[in-house]
Amino acid sequence: MDLKFDTNLVHGYKSNSQIVRLLTENWVLNNSYCPSCGEMPLNEFENNRPVADFYCKRCSEEFELKSKSGKLSNTITDGAYATMIERINSDNNPNFFFLTYTKQWTVNNFLIIPKQFFTAEIIIKRHPLSESARRAGWVGCNIDISNISDSGKVYLVKNAQAIN
Ligand SMILES: [Zn+2]
Repeated sequence: MDLKFDTNLVHGYKSNSQIVRLLTENWVLNNSYCPSCGEMPLNEFENNRPVADFYCKRCSEEFELKSKSGKLSNTITDGAYATMIERINSDNNPNFFFLTYTKQWTVNNFLIIPKQFFTAEIIIKRHPLSESARRAGWVGCNIDISNISDSGKVYLVKNAQAIN
């Protein structure tokens, strides 16, 4: 497993969020598999679906990628609370991938949280945005993975070491 991102993909890109998205999604496509049926590689959805980034064409499982720079923490900031809860309670609730990367564009941690462990209890509602905010009243969420048992965290990379 190559833990380096393919930075050739982002020549000419300026936006950091775009660069991160391209590099992390490309790496996941090349290095992950479907934890339900073992299919590899996964396939990518068109952008801008509310919660899913990838799917398995053999068993139709869906996957959402969350990535962050730096250390793996227990809490990951996410988007709209209501959207997330709706998605988790739907028939095609997704599995989650968490990826952390270094400033040198290498993977530090990559884990799969199978969907049966990804439940509403780990989605923490944030305070609504204040009246003065552009999106006043909007409610986001955090994902708290500290309450997921170890069997629900399948590491493919841990502390910059590939795990077989
Ligand atoms: Zn599958």
